[in-house]
Amino acid sequence: MPGGFTGKILRVNLTTKQVSTLPTEKYMDYGGGHGMGSAIFFELVGAQLPFEAFDPRNLIIMMASPFAGTFMPGSGRCEVQGLAPMLHPIEWFGHSNFGGRFTAQLKFAGWDGIVVEGASSEPVYISVIDDKVNIESAAGVWGMDTWDTQQEISRRVVPSLRYGEWAELAQNCFTTQIPAVVACGPAGENKVRYAALLHGPGSQAAMCGYGGVFGSKNLKAISVIGTGGVPIADPQALMDARIWFRQFQWDVDNPRDAAMFSSGYSLINGAPSGGNVSNGDRVPARAAACASCPRGCKQRLATGDSNESVCAGSMFASIGGGGMFGGGAKPKSADGAAAKPASIAMAAALRSKLTRQGNDLMQRMGIGHWPVMAMRGYINTAISQGLVKAELPPQGTYAYYEALFRMISLREGELGELAAEGPARMAEKLGRYKEDVHGGSLRLTYWGTQEHYDTMTQLEWGYGSLFGERDLMLHQMSNYPVHWMAQSGNPYLTAEEASKLYAEAMIPYQDDRYLIDYGVSPETGIYSDSKIKLTAWTKHYEKFWHGMGFCGWRWPQCITNNTADRRGATPNAEPRFWNAITGQNKTFADTMEIGHKIFTLDRAIWNIQGRTKAMEVFPDYIYDRPSGGSIQPMVIDGKWVYDQGRGRQHDRAKLEDFKARFYKFEGWNPDNSYPTRATLEKMGMKNVADVLQSKGKLG
Ligand code: SF4
Repeated sequence: MPGGFTGKILRVNLTTKQVSTLPTEKYMDYGGGHGMGSAIFFELVGAQLPFEAFDPRNLIIMMASPFAGTFMPGSGRCEVQGLAPMLHPIEWFGHSNFGGRFTAQLKFAGWDGIVVEGASSEPVYISVIDDKVNIESAAGVWGMDTWDTQQEISRRVVPSLRYGEWAELAQNCFTTQIPAVVACGPAGENKVRYAALLHGPGSQAAMCGYGGVFGSKNLKAISVIGTGGVPIADPQALMDARIWFRQFQWDVDNPRDAAMFSSGYSLINGAPSGGNVSNGDRVPARAAACASCPRGCKQRLATGDSNESVCAGSMFASIGGGGMFGGGAKPKSADGAAAKPASIAMAAALRSKLTRQGNDLMQRMGIGHWPVMAMRGYINTAISQGLVKAELPPQGTYAYYEALFRMISLREGELGELAAEGPARMAEKLGRYKEDVHGGSLRLTYWGTQEHYDTMTQLEWGYGSLFGERDLMLHQMSNYPVHWMAQSGNPYLTAEEASKLYAEAMIPYQDDRYLIDYGVSPETGIYSDSKIKLTAWTKHYEKFWHGMGFCGWRWPQCITNNTADRRGATPNAEPRFWNAITGQNKTFADTMEIGHKIFTLDRAIWNIQGRTKAMEVFPDYIYDRPSGGSIQPMVIDGKWVYDQGRGRQHDRAKLEDFKARFYKFEGWNPDNSYPTRATLEKMGMKNVADVLQSKGKLG
């Protein structure tokens, strides 16, 4: 086996209670991580598709990568795959991921991944201690929230564990570690379609509803603890690469341009602690990190709440105005006079405390933080318009969020049942899908997931989601580094300089200077061949590198303000670390071609599930309403500028033409979007071509 791999993938059948292994070597042509997960999914159930996400035949696949358990920066996330109950109109084969220390422990236990199939007749959890794997009863754990579940399972797995002391896992086998547990909460047990998986206090696999798939399998949690290591092909080369990489990191002792990109812009510059967007620096906190990540975007707070939650996980519940932006109404004393400064400070602290605890409640119930954002708005609309009779406490109070989370997680009442189905299916059940989704009041732009950044200007996000299965959620492409840099009003690169550095990084399309021209010029803008390459590059990078556990808050890094010449680590860092760890000799272009192969395999799975060319369209409002825009680099009148691109509307005919050219570029039939036999066989996937042909879906 190449370095970085343990050589075996755990296979657990919950119906038969059989535990076996799959050899990693068999799937090496797919790189690792997501690619291997897709290959396993296709091999085990591809020919049986279509079926639904809560069918026991669905798989939960949790993949590590060669990087997990090493100190390759920002590479330790766990890739989760399987049919996704959250997605719409078909429960597409999807993916989500979560950070923390799960994949590191999985590798230390000797596994490259876990495949769970079937469904148990009674609640269980899976315990992995090195090569000892047991399916254990979850009696007494089923019904617990995600935090209590992790604590209780840790106690059961390692009863002798005491903080700071050695515990005996097996004979002559000791650890100071607690098991890494990933669990569903009450929302997952009740098959809420956007139920999350939670690991640690705040690391969520938020997308796709895999918590609900755990629930459908009567699977409460997976616990992993290992005492081994990860084989590294060339330890010296890995150490050299890691030291070399320091130039791309935020330098705590000498932060370049710290004043330019502080506080909210820590997402751009890579400074620690910036992920908890509701705390800022109000409560003293130290940075916390996923295994292997020197950035540490998370926080551990002195107050002990909101720990390790980031972004939507720390800002969904905003209580009394204590959320992302703090502040809120200024309190008054009983006679109406302005309150004293001490009272104001105390009230603000209380609002912040309640906000953090409200968000923690969401984590404990196991509700996906990003999808519930769209859900909350639609619930409020349904109540206020009298579409559903339900009462909730006043919005903005802790009681409101407590009642909301309980209603969704336990499917309480008519509204709870509707809300648990997610906003797209709730709109359908209310008979309002066309009016609300196509009309644009419920912006479910991408397969039942909500619009995130402007579809018309952040183009790889819009196209990458349309040609994928969910919101792309790839901030580090040109969203944080370019959009937010320009949005700051003080960009450290001109639009033209940024476009040059991006083109240099985006191998194999480095000869195209207009890859990130987000303008409307027919030659280089929104429907141009440059945007086809931008979309392809983004999807291929997503499938290979993000699927390899790379964090979307760190990778790719085409530019950075941490280096003197503003060049980022991409495309040199990725192959340098890969080759040091695996001992292979891959170029960046090699990995992107494997990403292309994985994307084509995922495409074939979606086609078998029912994806057609006609389905790949945006809701009507994207064509019919002027876009609000979103600042990006673009060429206007022959000059590179930063511009909002406001007022655009997609043109249906031009988008159809773009789609056909994109399919052809990828080696798929431009008339029906199905991959061709020639493409699949060239990629070594004759088996996929045969199944597609048997289903009448070969391009
Ligand atoms: S940037 Fe944050 S979420 Fe990403 S790997 Fe690092 S600590 Fe984890």
